[in-house]
Amino acid sequence: MSPPRPAVVWDPRFREYDFGPGHPFTEASRDLAVRLLRASLGPPGIGRFLWVDRLDSAEGLLRRFHGPEYIEYVRQASDRGDRAYLDLGDTPSFAGCFGAATSLVAGADRAVHHALDTGTAAFHPGGGLHHAGRSGASGFCVFNDVAVAIADPVANGRRVAYIDIDAHHGDGVMYGFYDSGRVLDIDFHQDGRTLFPGTGFPPETGRGDGAGSKVNVPLPPGAGDEAVLPLFRRLVPPLLDGFRPDLIVLQHGVDGHAGDPLTRLQYTPSAYVEVLRTVVRLANAHCAGRLVVVGGGGYRPETVSRVLARAGRILGGVPLPDDGESLPEGWRSEYAAETGVEAPARWATPLRLVRSPWREQDEARLVRELEDALGRKFPASPPEPPRPR
Ligand SMILES: [Zn+2]
Repeated sequence: MSPPRPAVVWDPRFREYDFGPGHPFTEASRDLAVRLLRASLGPPGIGRFLWVDRLDSAEGLLRRFHGPEYIEYVRQASDRGDRAYLDLGDTPSFAGCFGAATSLVAGADRAVHHALDTGTAAFHPGGGLHHAGRSGASGFCVFNDVAVAIADPVANGRRVAYIDIDAHHGDGVMYGFYDSGRVLDIDFHQDGRTLFPGTGFPPETGRGDGAGSKVNVPLPPGAGDEAVLPLFRRLVPPLLDGFRPDLIVLQHGVDGHAGDPLTRLQYTPSAYVEVLRTVVRLANAHCAGRLVVVGGGGYRPETVSRVLARAGRILGGVPLPDDGESLPEGWRSEYAAETGVEAPARWATPLRLVRSPWREQDEARLVRELEDALGRKFPASPPEPPRPR
């Protein structure tokens, strides 16, 4: 029997999760990422993955996380096909929104099962709708695909480490499992005083059985790799050591990337590569490789497509292209047809970064705040050993 392969979950129905022209969230960018991943792999590389492109209905799963009245409310709005707002103004309903949102839940459920059953990774670039709450839509998220997908394993005693690097705080997941000590939630995001949804501060550490299992790391506007990477190295490995997860889920939102139109962080592609490689290593060390990566936010198609395609390569153990390597011509034509603008030519484009406000004392202050809130210490990491060039 051939060894299990990492899965890429992409059902063409995900494209139906579409709020219409002019809305910033579009699954088209995630589709372009999957197409770039395939185009860049060639046949032997494609064979390294299990491609899941058809999913069973997930309607019966929604109640694991969402309230029955909310589910019914979305179904009726979807059937009527009018444009009512499902939240306070970011997330309109549309004809078929129930089925489209449910298909993304099915993707997350499949990804979680794949990882748990095979001990490999699963990549669900269309998912990561982390704002949806138990009884309401929020921030472009109708149903919370990850929360529904982990609810069952968590109810059955499994321990899930949820790591979220989207620029926005993953409030739907965190508050959804605020009382559960079986969900360790570590969330790096732009400070809620400067960005939607306005939550995710260090004193929010969980409640009851969940006390001490929620870790919020807010960063100021303008912060980039120099802030997130040292904090990630310092906080995440020891938190996972103490937690012993059965599964790791990474919400790999790309909207913290420099140039994203909705946020003001400025991560570079290298930050995403280091974070994901670290998470892969931690998944191998703690839970026999059981890892789910979901796409999350990201509002610039050229960034979303390239960064998520790289993420897929990392999960498949495929070497990364050089930044200056040209992108496949066929894919570039598809990109232009899809977006109406010229495709990027190479895997990375030089970035124009603003001066970061982040200082060493900011890390010390933030870590102290987390230590006080969580009642534990996070010693500074030893300096990085010099790398051979
Ligand atoms: Zn986001």
